[in-house]
Amino acid sequence: MYQLLKKDKSAKRGRLHTVHGVIETPVFMNVGTIAAIKGAVSTDDLRQIKTQVELSNTYHLHVRPGDHIVKKLGGLHKFMNWDRPILTDSGGFQVFSLSGLRKIKEEGVYFQSHIDGRKIFMGPEESMQIQSNLASTIAMAFDECPSSVATREYIQNSVERTTRWLMRCKNEMQRLNKLEDTINPNQLLFGINQGGVYEDIRIEHAKRIADMELDGYAIGGLAVGETHEEMYRILEAVVPYLPQEKPTYLMGVGTPANILEAVDRGVDFFDCVYPSRNGRHGHVYTNHGKLNLFNAKYELDDRPIEEGCGCPACRSYSRAYIRHLLKAKEMLGMRLCVLHNLYFYNTMMEEIRQAIDGGCYQEYKKKKLEGLTEK
Ligand SMILES: [Zn+2]
Repeated sequence: MYQLLKKDKSAKRGRLHTVHGVIETPVFMNVGTIAAIKGAVSTDDLRQIKTQVELSNTYHLHVRPGDHIVKKLGGLHKFMNWDRPILTDSGGFQVFSLSGLRKIKEEGVYFQSHIDGRKIFMGPEESMQIQSNLASTIAMAFDECPSSVATREYIQNSVERTTRWLMRCKNEMQRLNKLEDTINPNQLLFGINQGGVYEDIRIEHAKRIADMELDGYAIGGLAVGETHEEMYRILEAVVPYLPQEKPTYLMGVGTPANILEAVDRGVDFFDCVYPSRNGRHGHVYTNHGKLNLFNAKYELDDRPIEEGCGCPACRSYSRAYIRHLLKAKEMLGMRLCVLHNLYFYNTMMEEIRQAIDGGCYQEYKKKKLEGLTEK
């Protein structure tokens, strides 16, 4: 059950109650695609860095180790030793972005595994079955994420099929949640809005899926090559047509600035690979801009990445030491940078929630953005 606790202009402060605990929103979900946060970060670490939700991927876990294996081991929570909420992406995006050969039909998509080339079929029912085997807290609907260069006609047809697929996802999840051997019979379903950069298609689609009484609503197919301004324009157009008394999730976004702007437009769930990917390359976020720890100027810098940061890296280690680890390709270097970056994002979300609670989100956003863009 989702409670809308407070609004500060369009910014939403919410709380989602799940069988795996409460999610305070706005929230940034920490991405562990294959049930692992890249950079040697364990679920024990996640508990130290204020992670509320871990995000894994249906397609990847279906291919390896296999969702039936995960089910036999008691589901994803038990498998990775994480008792808090997990969201599983439906695999739709990966099917369309990773697989070379694919054929889209009304029943679903035929494609080849990017691991071993074997032929796989995935449709709405299969995606729901896999996510039920994984037993995540929140399952995402199986949708098509059309290419950003697709024609308007293609996107229109694709969105209509995505709506039909969403109905099938809902029916299949209702069936699965009633089965006796289902690990999480309270699995939630979020639907996904599509429509490329066409506001009218997106709005029409948003209206249709809003009527379907889902547990949450995502905006997909953004951050795939359009400009930030285009993305904000789409959000301003479409978010008002999604139920505000349900979670609003912007998939795959983004930079701290993107998140601050999207919160301002009514979004309260986020995920992105940036903090872990950048961390693995020695790029770390601070309230005074991003640092590249490979830079020679940190060779003798005995300060932490950020003064006053409570993360495991900043509590114990200097920029100079972490730089040395990165240069020597020691795994600890990457790990410390990833921990700091995820802590930075998770802490920013905490600040965002406090600012909305206090009715000062605009001031907070302005000040935070000024710091983030310092050079
Ligand atoms: Zn830190």
